[in-house]
Amino acid sequence: MSRRVTQEPRGKMLGIFKGMGITIKHVFRRAVTFQYPDEKRNDIPERFRGELKLRRMMGVNDEERVETTKMPPCMATCPSNMKIREYVGLISEGKYTDAVVVMKEDNPLVLICGRVCPHPCESNCRRGDKDEPVAINNLKRFAADYDLKMQRAGKIKIKPPKKKKDDRVAVVGAGPAGLSCAFYLAKAGYQVTIFEKLPVAGGMLMVGIPEYRLPRDILQAEIDQVLALGVELKLNTAITGLDNLFKQGFKAVFLGVGAHKPIKMGIEGEDLEGVVAGETFLADVALKNKFKIGKKVAIIGGGNTAIDCSRVSLREKAKNVYILYRRSRQEMPAHEVEIADAIDEGVDIQYLVSPTKIIGRDGKVVGIECVRNELGEKDARGRRRPVPVPGSEFVIEVDMVMSAISRVPEVDWLNKTNVEIHTKRGTIVADRITGETSMPGVFAAGDVSLGADIAIAAI
Ligand SMILES: Cc1cc2nc3c(=O)[nH]c(=O)nc-3n(C[C@H](O)[C@H](O)[C@H](O)COP(=O)(O)OP(=O)(O)OC[C@H]3O[C@@H](n4cnc5c(N)ncnc54)[C@H](O)[C@@H]3O)c2cc1C
Ligand code: SF4
Repeated sequence: MSRRVTQEPRGKMLGIFKGMGITIKHVFRRAVTFQYPDEKRNDIPERFRGELKLRRMMGVNDEERVETTKMPPCMATCPSNMKIREYVGLISEGKYTDAVVVMKEDNPLVLICGRVCPHPCESNCRRGDKDEPVAINNLKRFAADYDLKMQRAGKIKIKPPKKKKDDRVAVVGAGPAGLSCAFYLAKAGYQVTIFEKLPVAGGMLMVGIPEYRLPRDILQAEIDQVLALGVELKLNTAITGLDNLFKQGFKAVFLGVGAHKPIKMGIEGEDLEGVVAGETFLADVALKNKFKIGKKVAIIGGGNTAIDCSRVSLREKAKNVYILYRRSRQEMPAHEVEIADAIDEGVDIQYLVSPTKIIGRDGKVVGIECVRNELGEKDARGRRRPVPVPGSEFVIEVDMVMSAISRVPEVDWLNKTNVEIHTKRGTIVADRITGETSMPGVFAAGDVSLGADIAIAAI
């Protein structure tokens, strides 16, 4: 009897917690857990903690976002919610440097975005209903270039804030997420140190996006603007644990380590000489590492990485460059203008084709066997599935194969910490609003928590 009396309240509490989807490890977590029980719902992937709140704040699609936030459609569509009307208005009045000040309230990398952002904002510009959308990104680029000219002429100077806080923050990764985090923290007076494992800063902007799309002096100028705020940058410094950073006196750690591990194709012959990951090839070119380009190159994938690999291959003197994409041009995720440019430059894009086997001789690639597809039922994301056509196999003679399917974060080193990793996607589970991870004092954003995305989403 007495056992029943003492056990009942505990059992009841456990029942309530269980019903709310809270387990003991969640009870001691802060902010992220406020959203957590809600987000145990099956229709919302676990990695989108904070997503429900974000959805309530922002709506689930473009129309709802405009309605819920009362933001202009362009601003609601920009992942950084840049104050587009305000800065475009200032540009129209000739106040270019003032426009840049407004832009930098939400995006410190305007020279970069002005060149590489796929400008989703423009597809929701109301002016587009009448004739053409406002050229938001070109206007941004123009004002940012003008501002840089003024800086180079010594007419604008960036200075660190006068009031410094005692708190030090470690930023891991010098990609757009890390640079952006460092910029706003430094402006708020925090002492920021960025740790970057590569010999260069910029992340995928530097070692992924080719130079012909993003000139390195422009990229470096914007990195220098962040450093001019007093941010310390330690290159060639890979972080392999978090305890050491806290022991060094950092009060918080931001993880902006991106998604750099290429996904394998999972077909026979992938270990042959001449098969490389597209990201590795682009990084080798960017870092001027030694590499060998084939004469006939097949690139697997349909995104921007595939297009960049194809156009860089041509610039590196490959004779024939093929892109093999499993769906049709309509479904191709690469930007339309990039696809058109690649075709103009001579890239042979073969649609509705999947590789089945890489053929080798003496350990080296000599060809790739493919099968033709037709489009079948829609998948969970609403895209029609490629279905192989039996008997349609064919071979293309190539001496190099690049996989450019997708990439995931390299976060094995976090397994020994309390930072939770999404088991299926391999991304860090972080609150979509605050960036908080499951480990107090550790925050994450950018590709490492979103999966491979675009720069402005990381910013
Ligand atoms: C080929 C290619 C083309 C692209 N084209 C476009 C485009 O046209 N427009 C666009 O908007 N986006 C584009 N993107 C996507 C965009 O570059 C990324 O979304 C963006 O760079 C992600 O930013 P991030 O800061 O999260 O990660 P990253 O840019 O990947 O930066 C992460 C940084 O962390 C460092 N790092 C990783 N682990 C550690 C560690 N343990 N210790 C220290 N440092 C570490 C990495 O070396 C890297 O420098 C492209 C990507 C690729 C690969
Ligand atoms: S960053 Fe990209 S999405 Fe945002 S306003 Fe600029 S062009 Fe548009």
